Amino acid sequence: MTAERVVVVGGGFGGLAAAIRLAGAGHDVTVLERRDQLGGRASQWVIDGFRFDAGPTVLTAPHLFEELFTLAGERLADHVTLVPLDPYYRVFDDDGAPFDFRTDEAAMLAQVARRSPADVPGYQRLQSRIAAIFDAFHPYTERSMMSLPAMLRMLPYLLEHRAMLGVRHLVHGTVRDPFLRRALTFHPLLIGGDPARTPALFALLVEFERRWGVHHAIGGTAAVVAALGGLLERLGGRIELGAEVERILVERGRVTGVRLADGTTRPADVVVSDADPGHVSGTLLAHKPRAAAARVRLGWARPSMSLHVLYLGADRTWPDTPLAHHNILYAGDPERALRAVFGPPWGGTPRRRPTAEDLFLYAHVPTRTDPTIAPDGCESLYVLVAAPALPRRGGEATESARIRERVLEVLGEHHLPGLADHLVVEHAIGPEHFRDVLNTPRGAAFSLHPSLFQAGWFRPHNRSPVVRGLYLVGAGTHPGAGVPAVLASAKIAATLIGAAAGATPERRAR
Ligand SMILES: Cc1cc2nc3c(=O)[nH]c(=O)nc-3n(C[C@H](O)[C@H](O)[C@H](O)COP(=O)(O)OP(=O)(O)OC[C@H]3O[C@@H](n4cnc5c(N)ncnc54)[C@H](O)[C@@H]3O)c2cc1C
Repeated sequence: MTAERVVVVGGGFGGLAAAIRLAGAGHDVTVLERRDQLGGRASQWVIDGFRFDAGPTVLTAPHLFEELFTLAGERLADHVTLVPLDPYYRVFDDDGAPFDFRTDEAAMLAQVARRSPADVPGYQRLQSRIAAIFDAFHPYTERSMMSLPAMLRMLPYLLEHRAMLGVRHLVHGTVRDPFLRRALTFHPLLIGGDPARTPALFALLVEFERRWGVHHAIGGTAAVVAALGGLLERLGGRIELGAEVERILVERGRVTGVRLADGTTRPADVVVSDADPGHVSGTLLAHKPRAAAARVRLGWARPSMSLHVLYLGADRTWPDTPLAHHNILYAGDPERALRAVFGPPWGGTPRRRPTAEDLFLYAHVPTRTDPTIAPDGCESLYVLVAAPALPRRGGEATESARIRERVLEVLGEHHLPGLADHLVVEHAIGPEHFRDVLNTPRGAAFSLHPSLFQAGWFRPHNRSPVVRGLYLVGAGTHPGAGVPAVLASAKIAATLIGAAAGATPERRAR
């Protein structure tokens, strides 16, 4: 195998995992990250002793992290403490009664039976259908999908499981109780998708959590990011922060390196981009219109939803709060909230501006599990509010002041009485953060929407079809958004690079 000079653009989970795999395989690896910390969406805000994970907090399939440490003969547990959560989600109904997601199937069934005895058989049918979907489609998340025939091999499974229809269709076809329907269809939102239009094949996410649990990293997800950064350096990789890549350099159809915003260059035989594919084609390769050919497709691509995120620190705790570690809540009308974000279920853009009256909310309260995350006696939480992606041109986000007010109202009334009076720290980001800081077109918090025609072969490939030596990882590439998928994209890209450098040939590259 020839050792290559590899530059990785972006130090999110995708970039870090690719860098670790490539450094572990003996390549000379440098990660260039434009911000002053690693992690990308998984960075951390540290304010007055409160440590807020900026993004991902639901960690599943820990073996995907373990694999990275194994490359260096190390153990994940020696660097990060993962605590399994039970329940791992709590969904509240209109009367404030909780429905808990647990790995214990009997406990799940008992809750379904309490809410709607008639739905027990349908719920069981739903779980077996989800397990079958996982068995059929999980292998595709671990291999490259760079040829149409590879995608076509999925077709019989898509038909057999009717997995091209929406997740909502799958759930509504098995369960009748309106609250259970709502509680069992929220998973697509965790990867930025409309439950009505995200194909049922993505229900495999539900099975990830059932099989491998949902975990919290003590110290926050940032502890995992820090551990990966350390691992990369022990493997001989380099990390440059504050290093904004402005251009991917291409000569005669092959990458030769990158140019930074400060005018310096870094030569490379291989460039792995963890930046959004829309940023790659629209900016980093804008000087090479042929190389950026995918831009045409991305220009019309459907973005995932965006988010407002409120990070809140309070000077007291609420030991009796009904909130669990991860909570799903709605304010107002749930269906109206989703349609204002995604538009009608049959397609098109939202017909009305979203208002703060109808909101989909996800509240993360890590101090329920991990007091190290906030100063003594304090509560730390973040609240995600689903928002539409920004318009193609210009356009600023929705009423963020009113959203803050409404979130405090909802949490203060039902879950954390007096919250507004006890806030000592606040921070907020909105769709502009994803567009302007994380370089994602239209501020899409999860990059491309998880639609059938933006999945597999249709999604940007992990190896550029046009520029030799350019590989793409991260949420906007195959297999998709969410930490496990992004880690899988890094594994696929590293395998392809290894194959090209003469290591183990990847038999399923095409
Ligand atoms: C608020 C929020 C909550 C989430 N919660 C969960 C969750 O609980 N569980 C889960 O599994 N998933 C979750 N997700 C999704 C998950 O976080 C992402 O899919 C994943 O972290 C994306 O990783 P990435 O490597 O693709 O990209 P990113 O994390 O976006 O990293 C890309 C990096 O590239 C850098 N970059 C961009 N352009 C340049 C450039 N020109 N030069 C240098 N650097 C550049 C960026 O600064 C960034 O650091 C959440 C996402 C959000 C936004």
